[in-house]
Amino acid sequence: MKYSVNEQGYYGDFGGAYIPEMLYPNIEELRQQYNQIITEPSFRAEFESLLKDYVGRPSPLYLAKRLSEKYGANIYLKREDLNHTGSHKINNAIGQILLAERLGKKRIIAETGAGQHGVATATVCALKGIECVVYMGEIDMARQAPNVARMKMLGAKVVPATSGSKTLKDATNEAMRDWINNPVDTHYIIGSVVGPYPYPEMVARFQSIISIETKKQLAEHTGTELPDYAIACVGGGSNAMGMFYSFLDDESVKLIAVEAAGKGVDSGHSAATSVLGKEGILHGSRTILMQTDDGQVVEPYSISAGLDYPGIGPQHAHLHKVKRAHYVSITDDEALNAGLLLSQLEGIIPAIESAHAFAYLEKMQFKADDTVVICLSGRGDKDLETYIKHFGF
Ligand SMILES: *Cc1c(COP(=O)(O)O)cnc(C)c1O
Repeated sequence: MKYSVNEQGYYGDFGGAYIPEMLYPNIEELRQQYNQIITEPSFRAEFESLLKDYVGRPSPLYLAKRLSEKYGANIYLKREDLNHTGSHKINNAIGQILLAERLGKKRIIAETGAGQHGVATATVCALKGIECVVYMGEIDMARQAPNVARMKMLGAKVVPATSGSKTLKDATNEAMRDWINNPVDTHYIIGSVVGPYPYPEMVARFQSIISIETKKQLAEHTGTELPDYAIACVGGGSNAMGMFYSFLDDESVKLIAVEAAGKGVDSGHSAATSVLGKEGILHGSRTILMQTDDGQVVEPYSISAGLDYPGIGPQHAHLHKVKRAHYVSITDDEALNAGLLLSQLEGIIPAIESAHAFAYLEKMQFKADDTVVICLSGRGDKDLETYIKHFGF
């Protein structure tokens, strides 16, 4: 349990809740109630039933034979790409909408960058008939028009954030402002293991279904529930925390977190937080983030919108610092090539985010009987245009 959160909401030196005083009541309500609510039998029953019948869980654990042959190890893919709405994000959105209902909330707000979390949130709000407002940077709305249309079709209101760089950071500020003004009736669904405590812990627990299932499925495939390696990509870090969660105390399992190096770690166009970042406060928690010497957040870059984030969640900052997990980075080009390779070896087109995790296989040395599990966090349909542009199909 030494990698878990403590009573004060910290993972080692990281975490906590650094928020404006006006938000204290909202965060305090969550902190006092979420743990009890999510362990209630009626909550568990509805969560499990929706994951099964609505999301389509358990997601398969697939032994990728041709990929295994290429790299000389037994490589299993955890198929989060097969979930309803196409990625792992729906696991958390379902958990939080059930929590919001039980807190008596009538209105949901969310922030979104690429639109994937916005779509997952709009989806669960439609499922429950709850009002949904998604804040999105004006520039991101133009870049991700199909996801804006999806959210609108699902009945959500999409509000452009027009301040600052008009991207995710500004959308987050707008969502915070909304929450301060509507503390009683509104729940804020954060999409990754970031934000003030208890969000990082709550999101990790909703996503832990990924490794809970993986352990069981791996035992069915191989007779042992522990792989040698578990690999996942990291934006804020929710699919990776989900994949690592149940293996944290199994020290024989090597955990590998793959960040986006963008055009190269030293290019000035990167999102490789663990290499480039320093300790500081981002989105309400103490963590590692990319910042200038005078503490301004550096605008991150990655070809994959989901990894384009200037920080990592506080638990990742801790796992990095105590070296329980190994943080590496992969460039745009390496990720795109890995996406092409997976498509042609296994007939699976991955999200470019997920392709970062696969690209790291190129840099590893395996023993012949090594077992590897990779989180295939999402499907690549949303990224076809980027793949087409790069490869000229
Ligand atoms: C959003 C997203 C990510 C990155 O978010 P994490 O919180 O780091 O998991 C990764 N893969 C896909 C498919 C995504 O949509």
